[in-house]
Parts: sequence; structure tokens; C-alpha cells
Amino acid sequence: MFRTAIAGSLPKPSWLAETHKLWPQWAHEGDALREAKLDATLMWIKAQEDAGLTTIGDGEQSRQHFVHGFLEQVDGIDFEHKVEMGIRADRYKAMVPQVVAPLRLKGRVHATEARFLRAHTTRKVKFTLPGPMTIVDTVADRHYGDRASLAQAFAELLNQEALALQADGVDIVQFDEPAFNVYMDEVATWGIAALERAAKGLTCTTAVHICYGYGIQANVDWKKTLGDQWRQYEKVFPVLARSSIDQVSLECIHSHVPPDLMALLKGKDVMVGVIDVASDEVETPQAVAETIATALRFVPRERLIACTNCGMAPMDRKIAMAKLEALARGAELAQRRTA
Ligand code: ZN
Repeated sequence: MFRTAIAGSLPKPSWLAETHKLWPQWAHEGDALREAKLDATLMWIKAQEDAGLTTIGDGEQSRQHFVHGFLEQVDGIDFEHKVEMGIRADRYKAMVPQVVAPLRLKGRVHATEARFLRAHTTRKVKFTLPGPMTIVDTVADRHYGDRASLAQAFAELLNQEALALQADGVDIVQFDEPAFNVYMDEVATWGIAALERAAKGLTCTTAVHICYGYGIQANVDWKKTLGDQWRQYEKVFPVLARSSIDQVSLECIHSHVPPDLMALLKGKDVMVGVIDVASDEVETPQAVAETIATALRFVPRERLIACTNCGMAPMDRKIAMAKLEALARGAELAQRRTA
């Protein structure tokens, strides 16, 4: 069987938070919010299992946003005085918190949901954290002075949490690094070093997710400027192939990524995006199986994991549910066709 997994996030139900938003407001606070987060996590564990996915995630139901969910537990950051900053090389503006002092973890970040996830499925579990370069690109620095030093500081905190997640029973720790597709030269000079620092000492499987972003308008517009062939991965994959990271998650279906770039990841497990998160049209199992067949020209079958292109946080819940089904049915079909 082909392994199957989601990139990370899933939509939050309306009883947990505002729907169809990347930065939703919670529907509750205090104990009621803590309870609703875990209820939603349990619902998505069951949905992933019912669909037949082999790797299960928490769907990031306990964090408001994939970067700031981590930052909330970090000392040295001023959330009171946010400033406007152009992020991802000025693709869009965001109000971001400021690093004002040496960084330190206040305590565990994701212990509750990681242990809950582990307790409620016997399948392999994957847990996601933001990567150091992407965090650096989502905060304003008023203390460290350069991006490489700030990335190392965040990497040390991420490493503390990653080691604790491993101790909680997580099988795969994945770092999300969409910024790798924006600052390709800096990946080689300091991005990969920071990523490896974040993964240092882990004996569980390690992964990195590199995408072209959620299906929001700013990203759709940006993709239109990238031309017929998206070759960002061409610079980054050889660096990753030489790294200690075990798995790489990439966009494939409906992207303009030349599929032969996957061959640059020799020796790594490849999480191939076979589900488009920027379209509400649900893939047919045939379309998923065809994308897998294309990838198999460049990735050995035992190295291929069928996955979503990116997180599904801002999507409609019913559509996300249908896409989980399509992912699993498509992987089954590909299995039968290539058996
Ligand atoms: Zn992504």
C-alpha cells in the first residue's frame, strides 16, 4: 500500500472557531475552548481513519495559525505592539509581533494535543511545527540583528519542543518551511543549518513541508507571476538531499512544478501533493492515481507518500472531508494499477 498523509491543517468546525479563515477567532475561551479544541481533534482523527489514511495528524485544531501557535509560548516576543511587515519577500503585508529580548520557551507548546492524538489512534502520527526560516519571516526582529542568528535561536526552541513531541510518542515531526520557496539562496547559507538544528537529536522520522502557500488570493496572484515552470525546488532539493531530514513534502497536482525535479530528492521519502488545496473541486480517484503515476517516474514506490499540496485550514469542512476520501481512494487505485 502507498502511505497516505495530510500536509498538516484541516478546517476548524464552526463550534470551535470562525470558518473559512486563516486567522479565525475562537468561538469560546477558557475550559470551553480547551474542550472544543480536543473535540474537534477527535472528530478529525476519526475522519482521517475512516478515509483510510495511514498517517494521522491533529489537523492543527488547537492553534489559531501555524506560526503564531508556537510563538504564543515563547518569551522575548512583544505581542502587544505588532508592526506591519511585508512577508514572503513582500508578497503580502501582515501585522507581526516583535522579538525584543533573548528567546526562551515558557514551557511545553503542544503537549496536550500531541498526547491526545497519540492516545486516540494506533496508526502512525505526524505532528507539525513551523520551520525556523518561516518563523523568522513572520516576526519583526528588534534584538538579534540578523536573520541567521534569529533562526538559530528559534531552532533551539523548536528542537526542545520536537524532542518532547518525540517523547510523547509522535512518529514524525514535520517542519513547515514555505519560506524555502522564497529565499532559495538563503536556504543554502543558513536556512538548512537552522532546520537541521531544529531536528537535532531526533530519532523519530523528520520531515519538511515546502509549498506555494494556502489557496488564498495573495498566493493565487503570486503564482501567476511565476511563469510556466515553477523551478524554485530546483535550488532547494539538492540542499535537502544532502541534509539529515528524512521526508520532503511538495506541491504537485495542478502546480507548474516540473515533476522531474522530484528526482533531485534521491534517498528521501517524498510526500507528493496529489490534492489541490487551492480549489474546491474534489479530485477524482483517477486524477489522484495519475498524479501518483507521474511521480513514480521520478520517485521509487517505497519512497512515495501520497499527500495534500498544503494545509486545508481555510477550506470548507465538507470539501476537506471529501478530499481526504479522494486521497485515500486515489492511492488505492494507484496501488491496484501498479501492483
Ligand atoms: Zn503549505
